[in-house]
Order: sequence, then structure tokens, then C-alpha cells
Amino acid sequence: MQGVRPLAPVVRVAFHRVMAPLLRHPAPGGLLTRACVSSMATADDTRLMEEALSLAQQAAGRTSPNPLVGALVVANGRIVGRGFHRKAGEAHAEVVALREAGVLARGSTLYTTLEPCAHFGRTGPCTEALLDAGVRRVVAAMVDPDPKADGRGFARLRTAGLAVEVGVQARP
Ligand SMILES: [Zn+2]
Repeated sequence: MQGVRPLAPVVRVAFHRVMAPLLRHPAPGGLLTRACVSSMATADDTRLMEEALSLAQQAAGRTSPNPLVGALVVANGRIVGRGFHRKAGEAHAEVVALREAGVLARGSTLYTTLEPCAHFGRTGPCTEALLDAGVRRVVAAMVDPDPKADGRGFARLRTAGLAVEVGVQARP
């Protein structure tokens, strides 16, 4: 299965830089065991998640207390939106990518390194932005271990009828 092939060294580095701060979070049940690799992930999903991880790293050291997050909007096999979270208080990666995609986000797949938020923080919930934009499928590397999130984002999207894959590239 393509989705579980061993990571190339450069991706391993990307994973550690982006995910390590999250892995220190006391996630109930353990992060990676919950974010099991999806059986529906394709080779394209894996490749695109690697790109989202690279995007996330562009803000390395500047997002505290928030995690590094990268996102891509893909329509008809083409990347039409790219985003990463620049710093706390600014737009989340998903929203940045959706803005760039504009109307092309309708019917698209959104790749994100972290579960989209479903709660009101300093910004509106990304789940609602995804639904408003007409995204049909969401591929994520991992569950957000923050107790305010912790699966609620995925639950919201699935309830709304989106296909959701979790755990793509979530292998340290
Ligand atoms: Zn968000």
C-alpha cells in the first residue's frame, strides 16, 4: 500500500520539525496510534502531504504557541492553493490555501498536516471555511491533540458528508 511506504530521509526531517512540538502534547491515547494510516490513501496523497509538510516548515520558530501547519488545495490533480500558518493570531493554513484557490476549491481535496479546527479561537473554525468553499475530501496527517479539537474537526467534516483520510505521512 502506497500510503504506508517508509518515508524518505528528507520527509523524516520535515515530519520531525513540524510534528515534534505536537508530539510533546499529552494526547489522550497517544497521537500516532489514534491517527492510524488510512487504507484509502494513494501515492498522490503521500506526495502531496510531503509538500504540505514542507510548506508548514516555512514558519518554523514563528508560530508559538501554535503548531506549524501547512495546507494545499488540489483540484483535478493540480495544486490551486497553498497555505501555511505564519504566526499566532493570523489565518490558519487551511484558510490561506482556500483564499488562494478561490472558486477552484469547489469539489477539491484539501491536504493539511493537522486536523482542521472546529472551534472559535482567535480565528473562525476552519471546518466551516472548508464547507463553505465546497471542499469534498480532506486528507490530514494527524489528529489535533489539543483538547478543544481532538477529533471534533474530523467529526464535523464527516457529518457534513466529506471524505476524510487521517494519518497520511504521520509516521516519525
Ligand atoms: Zn483552523
